[in-house]
Amino acid sequence: MAAIDRDRLATMMAAEEQRFTDNHPKSAALFEQTRKTVHRGVPMPWMTQWASPFPVFAESARGARIRDVDGHDYIDFCLGDTGALFGHSPGPIAEAVADQAANGITNMLPTADAARVGEALSARFGHKYWQFALSATDANRFAIRLARAVTGRRRILVFNGCYHGSLDETLVSLENGVMRPMATTMGSALDPTETTRMVEFNDIPALKAALAEGDVACVLCEPALTNVGLVFPEPGFHQAVRDLTREHGAMLIVDETHTICAGPGGGTGYFDLDPDIVTLGKPVAGGIATAVYGFSEAVGDRIAEWIDGIGSFVTGIGGTLIGNALAMRAMAASLENVMTDENYAHMTEQAGRLADGVSDIIAARGLNWGVGRLGARVEYRFYGGEPSNATEAQAGDDPEFDSLFRLYFLNRGIMLTIFYNVSLVSPATSVADIDHHNAVFAEFADAVTG
Ligand code: PMP
Repeated sequence: MAAIDRDRLATMMAAEEQRFTDNHPKSAALFEQTRKTVHRGVPMPWMTQWASPFPVFAESARGARIRDVDGHDYIDFCLGDTGALFGHSPGPIAEAVADQAANGITNMLPTADAARVGEALSARFGHKYWQFALSATDANRFAIRLARAVTGRRRILVFNGCYHGSLDETLVSLENGVMRPMATTMGSALDPTETTRMVEFNDIPALKAALAEGDVACVLCEPALTNVGLVFPEPGFHQAVRDLTREHGAMLIVDETHTICAGPGGGTGYFDLDPDIVTLGKPVAGGIATAVYGFSEAVGDRIAEWIDGIGSFVTGIGGTLIGNALAMRAMAASLENVMTDENYAHMTEQAGRLADGVSDIIAARGLNWGVGRLGARVEYRFYGGEPSNATEAQAGDDPEFDSLFRLYFLNRGIMLTIFYNVSLVSPATSVADIDHHNAVFAEFADAVTG
C-alpha cells in the first residue's frame, strides 16, 4: 500500500464525503432526529462505522437491491453481512413469515415446522440432532457450554482473527504471539487467559502444543477465517485439527455462520470436515433472528442424561423466544426453498465472474493487489500475497484506503460491507450487477493509483 499517494487519498475522500452529503439530505435529517433519543443515532454502535459521514437510512430492500430514504437504489454486495446472503426478503420466506405472523408468533410450543427444519439440516450437515438459538453468538455460546459439560473441561481454543460473536472468552487476539484480551471489549469480568487458548490459523505445531495441555474442552473454528478477509486452510490443516482434537479429548465445533457461502453444506461440505458440533446463524431463516446448532447422537445422549440427572431446565442454555413459531416457519421455508442447489449454483457462478473480472483489472494495471473467493464470498486484497493467518492478513490493513474504497462504491450505487473488503453475491445478483461492480472497480483503481 506504500505506493498509494496519501494526499490523493485525502483529496478523494473529501470529495466523496461531500458528494455523499449533498445526495443524502433525508438520511442526514433522520440521523439528526434519531440521535436525540437513540444513542449516537444508530441501533448498534458499529453502525457508526460505515464509511459515509452519517449512515444511509434504508427504506426498503428486495433481492439484491436496497433503496434508501433519498430514493437511491444500491446493488447490495453487503447483504446484511451474510444475514441476507440469499437476497432480501426472498419470496418463499416473505410469504411464509406473513402467513405465520398472522397465526401466532411465539407460544412456547413446538410446531410442525420443527421436524421439517431438523430433517433439512440433518440432510445438509449429517448431524443427528438440532437445537436452536436466536443468534449465531448464542448458538456458539450454547455449543461451548455443551462441550464443557461433556468433557468436564473449562478452556476453549480459538484461532487468532476469529469472530464468533460477542462471547467474552473469544474476544482475544495474539500480539507478538501472546494472547491478550481485546482492548476494545467493554465491561468484561472474565479473564480470557483463564478460559481460552489461542493459536494462529494453519499453525499445526502450536495447536498440538496447546491441546497437549489436556485442558481444552473444544476447538471452535471457522472452516476458513472470514473476519480478517479470507484466510484459507492449508492442505492438511483441518485433518490435523480433527486428529489432534480427537487425540487430546477436545470437541470440534465448526461455526458455519459465514462459510455457509461455500455451498449447501457450508465449509463443512466444501472442505469435507467432520465436526462434533456445527453452528449456523445469520441467513438460516433469511435474516429472521434465529440460529441452529447440530450434534451427534452421543452428544445428544449426554445432554439428556445431564438434564434428567439434574432434574432442572436451568442449564445455562435458554431463551423464551428460541424456536418461536415465526422463526421456525421462516427457517423451514429458507432451507427447503431458498438455500437450494440451484441458488448456490447461480451465486457461485456470479461470484466467479466478479472475482475473475477484478483479477483481470488488477493484472491489466500491474497492481500488487489480489482476490480470494469461497463460493459466493469474494475478498479484495489491497496487498500482495495470500495470507496464511490473521497476523499476515492484518498486516495489509489500511483503514483510510478501505473507507475510501467503500464510500466510492456507495456513491456509485454499490453497497459494500462495513467491516472488511469482501463482497457477497446472492441468487438475485445479475450479470449486469456484476458488470457494473467491475466497471466501478476499474474506475476506482485508476482514480486511486493515478
Ligand atoms: N460467527 C461468525 C463466523 C461471525 O462472523 C459472526 C458475526 N459476524 C457471528 C458468529 C455472530 O453472529 P451474530 O452477531 O449474528 O450473533
